[in-house]
Amino acid sequence: MINLEVPKRFAALVGQAHEVAAEVLRPNSRKYDLAEHEYPKELDMLAAVIDGIGAGGGIAGAGASGVRRNGGASDDGVRNGSNMATCLSIAELCWGDVGLLLSMPRQGLGNAAIASVANEEQLERFEGRWAAMAITEPEAGSDSAAIRTTARLDGDEYVLNGEKIFVTAGERAELLVVWATLDQSKGRAAIKSFVVERANPGLKLVRVEDKLGIRSSDTANFVLEDCRVPKENLLGNPDIEATGGFSGAMQTFDNTRPLVAAMAVGLARACIEETRRLLTDAGVDLDPDTPAVAQTAAAAEFYAMEADYEAARLLTLQAAWMADNRKPNSLHASMAKAKAGRSCVDVALRCVRLCGSVGYSEGELLEKWARDAKILDIFEGTQQIQLLIIARQLLGKTSADLR
Ligand SMILES: Cc1cc2nc3c(=O)[nH]c(=O)nc-3n(C[C@H](O)[C@H](O)[C@H](O)COP(=O)(O)OP(=O)(O)OC[C@H]3O[C@@H](n4cnc5c(N)ncnc54)[C@H](O)[C@@H]3O)c2cc1C
Repeated sequence: MINLEVPKRFAALVGQAHEVAAEVLRPNSRKYDLAEHEYPKELDMLAAVIDGIGAGGGIAGAGASGVRRNGGASDDGVRNGSNMATCLSIAELCWGDVGLLLSMPRQGLGNAAIASVANEEQLERFEGRWAAMAITEPEAGSDSAAIRTTARLDGDEYVLNGEKIFVTAGERAELLVVWATLDQSKGRAAIKSFVVERANPGLKLVRVEDKLGIRSSDTANFVLEDCRVPKENLLGNPDIEATGGFSGAMQTFDNTRPLVAAMAVGLARACIEETRRLLTDAGVDLDPDTPAVAQTAAAAEFYAMEADYEAARLLTLQAAWMADNRKPNSLHASMAKAKAGRSCVDVALRCVRLCGSVGYSEGELLEKWARDAKILDIFEGTQQIQLLIIARQLLGKTSADLR
């Protein structure tokens, strides 16, 4: 049997992340689920500790690493590098709590965007700042190429106008990475990402959403009204190229999709472990050596969930490994996100069902995890969009051919 173990060099990292998840995130999980919109102040101290550990290549949140194709800070050529480390630590932290991981200061999805497409000067300038990611608009969700927020060059500044919705950590972060078009008539190639200071007077918070799950994470809506940003804040190449322009911004997804898949893997494992405990306490025999014909239905379902979890985990690690080795990973990033997102929703709901009223009530965290799981199959591209991307790549079709 092939035994794909976590590389030895990451054992300490996984151990540290697990400790944080067990000692800080899990104990505060229910508190901030009930106190939606309250700032999880426990994370400030934790973030400071993580900054210290991170300086030595330690545990990381959602935005720690980037997929850089053409050199750059994270282009170190190692076979198991920063993407693998980030995925492993995220899975571990999300075993603790997904919403709190998404609220971790200086570890936003916008940080991953900066790490992926910023130049060296920008990497240095934005280092240590907390960045959220603002792509979605009222008329542009799955179809991110349809965004209408505009960016017009005026002297040394770009002037941004538009609307951004569902921005994770948007209220709390210091920066927003905003996608906007330089020229709507030029399609995808004209879409660029801009770093906007949260304190910019042209960036106005409209409201913070109330949500089904990940309630400890803030989700903010904004309007940009003549929002002026220095032209040096455009990430990557400012030219509108016939090919490759949008791929600069889109490259972010090759990085963030495995991270979201890792969140789903961590949450699924939390559900499975808790369900194992509850079923065992209820007298269900979970012994894989028992012949299939003699297994209970509950045990058979439990093993099926474990197999699904394992498949999602391996796909996620593969996508991260490819990024670390600078292999094009768009297909595998989408495969990991599709499998892990779907599996974690499915696993979480099946665990609630298997554990009955105990699974459904607030005495345990299973009901919360079932609510938290759903977003992992929605943001950074829904299940349906991942399948579309996979189909296009496998069949050699363009987005115009298959939509
Ligand atoms: C809690 C939360 C946090 C979020 N955080 C962020 C964030 O930080 N930054 C950000 O930019 N966005 C964020 N989003 C937005 C998220 O990425 C979008 O909700 C998502 O991309 C889907 O877009 P939509 O909601 O407009 O749905 P739509 O695009 O309108 O899709 C609706 C349904 O139709 C399906 N569908 C759409 N097109 C197709 C097609 N071609 N074929 C088959 N099915 C299709 C979709 O899968 C979906 O089921 C967040 C959303 C939520 C709820």
